[in-house]
Amino acid sequence: MSPFLKSTLVLSAAAFLASCAAPSHRPSIASSSGRDVYGHRPGPRGFKTVIIDAGHGGKDSGAVSPFTGLKEKDLALDTAKRIANNLSRDFKVVMMRSDDTFVELDDRVARANQYGGAILVSMHYNSSASNIRGPETYFWRVDSHSLAVRCQQAMAQACPAESGSRGMVRRRIRLTRNPEIPCLLLEGGYLSNAAESRMIADAGYRQKLANAIASAIRTQAAIGDAGTGPLPLPINAPPSRPTDARE
Ligand SMILES: [Zn+2]
Repeated sequence: MSPFLKSTLVLSAAAFLASCAAPSHRPSIASSSGRDVYGHRPGPRGFKTVIIDAGHGGKDSGAVSPFTGLKEKDLALDTAKRIANNLSRDFKVVMMRSDDTFVELDDRVARANQYGGAILVSMHYNSSASNIRGPETYFWRVDSHSLAVRCQQAMAQACPAESGSRGMVRRRIRLTRNPEIPCLLLEGGYLSNAAESRMIADAGYRQKLANAIASAIRTQAAIGDAGTGPLPLPINAPPSRPTDARE
């Protein structure tokens, strides 16, 4: 083996090791596509595409209200369409599903990753003990924080059960960690709470909620992170898997 070849091999091995180690240390730099694996960057501004995901669908009803009989999958789709209608004059709006079909979570992530310069908002309704109520916003990525603050504050203004962004939750689930664009999961309130479930059954309330969320998205597109406070610490966590946590 020539010294030249040996040094080449050593360099190659070093490069290989560096490439193996890279994912956990790599600074999160926006690619030309506008996508970013970890999202350790400021929140988005000037984005042109909004992907609206209606949770569940088809064989997966999500939560069912014991008070109204309404299903989360239908309420989420209805609300998602109202958000989309509001935004469609100013943004390219992509609906993850527009009818009662089931889409796997990993497929939703893959579809979201076809877009750059975009954000993803997934719409859901919640279920728990009957005394718990109020909208919640789940986020994970640093670049999703200010949009999460805006959406939670907007929903709080529409919903009397929430104030002061109590419902902000940083949680690593597939739709908050795995997309390579800023992404949120919104819970528009609890179907398991009698008063809130009846409120959610009202189309006028869902329109109010949808308008509030659309307004938060517009504000984020216009001014980015301004006025939403310090960004959270970046966390290099692996992609979320189905077994990780409740989704
Ligand atoms: Zn859900």
